[in-house]
Amino acid sequence: MSKRLLLVGAGHAHLEVIHQLKERKLSQVDVCLINPSSYQYYSGMFSGYTEGLYEEEDTRVDLEALTKRAGIHFIKKSAGRILPKQKKVVCSDRSVYPFDVVSFDTGSRSLPPSSIARTIKPNYQFIPQVNEIRKTTHPLIVGGGAAGCELAMSIQTYKNKHQIPGNVRVISAERILSDAPAHVSRKLRSIFSKKGIQLWEHERASEVLEDCVITDKGNRVRHTGVLWLGGAEADSLFQDSDVACDEQGFAYVRDTLQFEGYDHVFGAGDCVTMTDHPHLAKSGVYAVRQGPVLWENLQNYLKGNPLKRYNPQTNALYILSTGHKKGLLTYGPIAHHSHQAWKLKNKIDTEFIQKYKSFSE
Ligand SMILES: Cc1cc2nc3c(=O)[nH]c(=O)nc-3n(C[C@H](O)[C@H](O)[C@H](O)COP(=O)(O)OP(=O)(O)OC[C@H]3O[C@@H](n4cnc5c(N)ncnc54)[C@H](O)[C@@H]3O)c2cc1C
Repeated sequence: MSKRLLLVGAGHAHLEVIHQLKERKLSQVDVCLINPSSYQYYSGMFSGYTEGLYEEEDTRVDLEALTKRAGIHFIKKSAGRILPKQKKVVCSDRSVYPFDVVSFDTGSRSLPPSSIARTIKPNYQFIPQVNEIRKTTHPLIVGGGAAGCELAMSIQTYKNKHQIPGNVRVISAERILSDAPAHVSRKLRSIFSKKGIQLWEHERASEVLEDCVITDKGNRVRHTGVLWLGGAEADSLFQDSDVACDEQGFAYVRDTLQFEGYDHVFGAGDCVTMTDHPHLAKSGVYAVRQGPVLWENLQNYLKGNPLKRYNPQTNALYILSTGHKKGLLTYGPIAHHSHQAWKLKNKIDTEFIQKYKSFSE
């Protein structure tokens, strides 16, 4: 009798699993993908889209076409809960999908405290949100991490290219790029200042009003739209289910990418926390590296073979687009701001998305 493998979310690791499934069909396994959008948007290309270097089509993978080619059933829905013991996933419309093996790659959220602030997560919300906010005079970004800083620079570049007056404003609770060494933050601060981006550092946004954000230091920062990128937060998916989660609500996985306590439940990417590496950044680079291990382990588990272990790399390469085809490359203590860095980013990103796009065409 055939078994059912349920893939929930079309994140980076699952794109790799789907890609592999086209080449090597699993015998006697019926595969389904549950995802709320027909497209998977690639965040590595969001800065280039915002600035006007890429079209929307360049930044996304057509999931309906991709799954059709790979012989996978596509279910355009959002998962709301998992019943791990009963082996069922309940979707937000209350439909129920039974499985033998399930894998989650649903990403993270950023949850603004007020509906006045915009969010771009899940990623399919990015294009309409950024299309509106980049045309306004004083867009305000809450969050000084890599995503917030990169989008601040791309929006400012778009505004300059289109002669839209005003400056982008950024509020950051810590120093900008606080995960990187202090000299990288200094470099970025000087890029911000050359671009005219206004920065409120070491201040927390405490209230979002229609025309301003009030910080914990009592500053009122005026805005014409707020983009909330205050760090990766968990969807309620796992907190509402009987699975072990960290204090934020990300499900714990072992180094085999299996959930704690359930061998038949797998997970990768931002939506999970590795029990042995609880401080690993919620970054696409790790989700990408987990993809091949997840693929092998899903096969191994279904065949009853021993599972592989995933060991995250110590340092990860990040390249932030700073506008006008320049990039700030960071790798451990190294930081390098140049056109070559952007060229490398463009190469990595276009090759990544092309791998899945060419396969869906
Ligand atoms: C502007 C920006 C730039 C970034 N640049 C970089 C970068 O250069 N390098 C880097 O490493 N990281 C970068 N990141 C972070 C990166 O986007 C995330 O870490 C990464 O997308 C996480 O990948 P993932 O596979 O976990 O999930 P995602 O890529 O977020 O994909 C999750 C998928 O699951 C779907 N989904 C969500 N909820 C459900 C549900 N309940 N049921 C079913 N499906 C669901 C979503 O629609 C989506 O298709 C950036 C983030 C932003 C915002």
